[in-house]
Amino acid sequence: MENQLSNEQLIAAAQQFGTPLYVYHAEKITEQYNKLSHAFSGHPTRFFYACKALTNINILKHLKSLGSSLDCVSINEVKLGLKAGFEPKEILFTPNCVAFDEIREAVDLGVNINIDSISMLEQFGNYYGDTYPICIRINPHIEAGGNYKISTGHIDSKFGISIHQMRHIERVVKTTKLHIQGLHMHTGSEIKDINVFLQALEVLFSVAEHFDRLEFLDLGSGFKVPYKEEDRETDISSLGQKLNIAIKEFEKEYGKPLEIWFEPGKYLVSECGYFVVNANVVKQTTATVFVGVNSGFNHLIRPMFYDSYHKIANISNPSGAERIYTVVGNICETDTFAWDRVLNEVRAEDLLVFYNAGAYGFEMSSNFNSRLKPAEVLFKDGTFTLIRKREVFEDLLRGQVV
Ligand SMILES: *Cc1c(COP(=O)(O)O)cnc(C)c1O
Repeated sequence: MENQLSNEQLIAAAQQFGTPLYVYHAEKITEQYNKLSHAFSGHPTRFFYACKALTNINILKHLKSLGSSLDCVSINEVKLGLKAGFEPKEILFTPNCVAFDEIREAVDLGVNINIDSISMLEQFGNYYGDTYPICIRINPHIEAGGNYKISTGHIDSKFGISIHQMRHIERVVKTTKLHIQGLHMHTGSEIKDINVFLQALEVLFSVAEHFDRLEFLDLGSGFKVPYKEEDRETDISSLGQKLNIAIKEFEKEYGKPLEIWFEPGKYLVSECGYFVVNANVVKQTTATVFVGVNSGFNHLIRPMFYDSYHKIANISNPSGAERIYTVVGNICETDTFAWDRVLNEVRAEDLLVFYNAGAYGFEMSSNFNSRLKPAEVLFKDGTFTLIRKREVFEDLLRGQVV
């Protein structure tokens, strides 16, 4: 397949840079970005890469070169974005439960700001009035389906201001003269059904009628990518067509053009990523055969944290007999990557790869058990380049007072 790294390429990268190793394919990110641009080309649309999925500055620069903007959830992500070369107006700051100081810092940096609570709206309005246009994060209470832990639209979610609090929002906006230039919603990850988007869009239209200075509607993200063979990607071209019709219709009513904004994270960077590890131990017990690898949930937490499925392959013995294994890490804690997985026979020192490891992989890694974080490598124009050094022992002591 196009823009996919072969076993041979991954083995070569492992030999050159060692394991555990995160490898990212730049052209795959480009492919995904182009698919999105194409699907939504019927209407002025901007994409803000949700960089919490993968913040390596080389990835940010690559996305910038494609024409992407950036969605940030912390002031440090904003600063990384600026450092990567994004203009302040190409950055959207969508924090949750931060102190007003952090919002003020974002104003000073000149980025777009998304406010997600009534108290913050009030504080912002009292301080800035109409001098700094903002966006409001609405919770439309539409279920994205999929995993509850990564769904943010449900009624008891901490994200956004409830659609049921519209009166309150309006009161604050009126009394403090806030300039509302955008409305935002993000219903969570893994939307399988595009009707969820369209329903949420209708909700957002009904909210939009309360504000007359809007310039954009931000529909967040949730574009799904396939993790298992039978999984489907969100049908974005069909979404693009339907969205186009709906927004054109609404613009007539609203009397003004509105841009559509999206904040894809996983969709842009999940499939570009490969996590390569070595098998350390193959251990037969009375229950199963364990493969213990030189990594753990300290490097890839998604299986333990969200019950996520990552396809795994034995790339150094691809024609070995198929057997069933439980793949575990080396952390002193339950640390299972996969139960009862069919793999080509695994021998100690074989190289295994986890696919779809670009999003929320390295980014959620830690030093638990005083283990070192992996290196990151970018494959672009046919060559591998180290974009983050493997940690060394001294990194564990950095910042400690000894
Ligand atoms: C995490 C997040 C995203 C990206 O979600 P994905 O599922 O990775 O596409 C977009 N917007 C906001 C506000 C987020 O917090």
